[in-house]
Amino acid sequence: MKPSLPDEADPSARTGVVIVPEEGALAEIAARIAACRLCADRFATTATAHMPRPVLRASPTAPILVAGQAPGMRVHRSGLPFDDPSGERLRAWMGIDRVTFYDPQRIAVVPMAFCFPGYDARKADLPPPPLCARSWRAPLLAALPGVRLTLLVGGHAQKWHLGRRARSVTDTVRAWRDFAPDIIPLPHPSWRNTGWLRRNPWFEAELLPHLRARVAEELARAGRASSSSGRDSTT
Ligand code: SF4
Repeated sequence: MKPSLPDEADPSARTGVVIVPEEGALAEIAARIAACRLCADRFATTATAHMPRPVLRASPTAPILVAGQAPGMRVHRSGLPFDDPSGERLRAWMGIDRVTFYDPQRIAVVPMAFCFPGYDARKADLPPPPLCARSWRAPLLAALPGVRLTLLVGGHAQKWHLGRRARSVTDTVRAWRDFAPDIIPLPHPSWRNTGWLRRNPWFEAELLPHLRARVAEELARAGRASSSSGRDSTT
């Protein structure tokens, strides 16, 4: 029997695309992504037979970009990226709370594919369809001029953003100093990587302090810029 997706019948819950402000170049491309159905036929052949539901959050001023993989089933339902145990772990790694993480003016969450790809035969998530990055990624990133720190979460994001500089996830993450200060490669925060985290204690001891310091630095910089522009607008 096919798993049911309760939100499928609710048109008001069709979009998980949140853009601030709601006009401008970013909003225009995001509206096209929200309406995208390029993978509809592909998703229809999966066990869940779901419709596309793009999920992303961004603002042209966001200083931090979280480049993830693709929404899972839970995020497909909620429309809220990283609204799952992986997200809890990612926020703990970054040293931030949910309010900060879900503020698109501070954190842009732009996965390699915007829709849940479905399950494979072993009930694991299928990889993000490459068509999504080919179709949307470059123009969308071009509309995010405020990004100063990019977190590459998992191998798919690392391959796309680093090109030939990407190796295996372990080797790429281990070489994190090569990409500092603007890029930080991370493993996916999924429970499936708990063993990886145990086998690579340097990640927690060395990389996470750097990650938290860079996130705090960019959030503080953005906060200063925001209060400064608020003061300017009242004078
Ligand atoms: S995954 Fe990307 S390309 Fe495919 S339907 Fe969703 S937005 Fe469109």
